[in-house]
Amino acid sequence: MNTKIDVTAPGKKAEKGGAHPLTKEIREMEKIFTSLGFEIADGPWIETEEVNFDSLNVPKNHPARDMQDTFWVKNLDETVLRTQTSDVQIRYMRKQQPPIRIIAPGRVFRNEATDGRHEAEFHQMEGLMVGKSISIANLKAVLDGFFKKYVGENVKTRLRPGFFPFVEPGIEFDVTCFACGGSDKKCDLCSGSGWMELGGSGMVHPNVLKAGGIDPEKYQGFAFGLGIERTVMAKYGINDIRVFLNSDIDMIKQFN
Ligand SMILES: [Zn+2]
Repeated sequence: MNTKIDVTAPGKKAEKGGAHPLTKEIREMEKIFTSLGFEIADGPWIETEEVNFDSLNVPKNHPARDMQDTFWVKNLDETVLRTQTSDVQIRYMRKQQPPIRIIAPGRVFRNEATDGRHEAEFHQMEGLMVGKSISIANLKAVLDGFFKKYVGENVKTRLRPGFFPFVEPGIEFDVTCFACGGSDKKCDLCSGSGWMELGGSGMVHPNVLKAGGIDPEKYQGFAFGLGIERTVMAKYGINDIRVFLNSDIDMIKQFN
C-alpha cells in the first residue's frame, strides 16, 4: 500500500503543564519567609503519637486524640497521620539548639466530614522562632511583615487570646479582610467584621521546649500555624476548600 506522509503538516502540540496553585502559593510564601531570615524545614506525614501529641503538651485525655479527629495507622501502635505541622518544631529542636528560625509548610490530616470549609487533608505553614529575649512583639512583626508582602501594604494583623496546648499564652491572629478591608458590611469573606481568622500562635510552652531538648530558663520562642488553603482562598476569593484537591483542570489552569 502506498501511504503518503505529509511531512509539512504541523505536529500535535503537547499541552503545557504548570505547578498546582497550592504549590505556587506555598513557594511564594516560602520566598517571603526566607527573605525574613527563616529556613525551610520538613517532617514526615506519618508521625508517632509521642511527637504529634505528647511532646506538644497535648494531654492523654485531650479530645483531639479521639478517633473522630485523628487518623490512626492500622496495625501500627501509637502512629498517626500528623494532625498539624507542629511536629516539625519538635523534630527540628531535637537536632538544633537556638537560635532557631524556621517555617515548615506541609500536608496535615483530620478525620472529619468535608464541606466547603473543611477537608480531611489540607496544608499548614508552621513557623518557629526560638532564641534569647524573643517576645510576642517579634511574632507580631513577623506576621505583619509576611502579610504585607503576601497581600499588600494596607493589610493589618490583630492578636487575640486563644487556647492551644502547645503555647502559653496562646494567641489567635486575624488579618484585615483581603476583599473589603473592613469597608463592606455585607462582605461574604469576613461577614462584615473586617477581620479574617487565619491561624493560631503563641509563645512556645516551656514543656514543648523541654520536649525538644531546649532549656526554657535560657530561651523563649514563638510559634504559629497558618492555614494555607484558608489564606489562598481569601486571597483569590475561592469559596470552597475542596477545589484544591479534586483535580479540576479548569480551576488549576486559572493560576497558570
Ligand atoms: Zn470583608
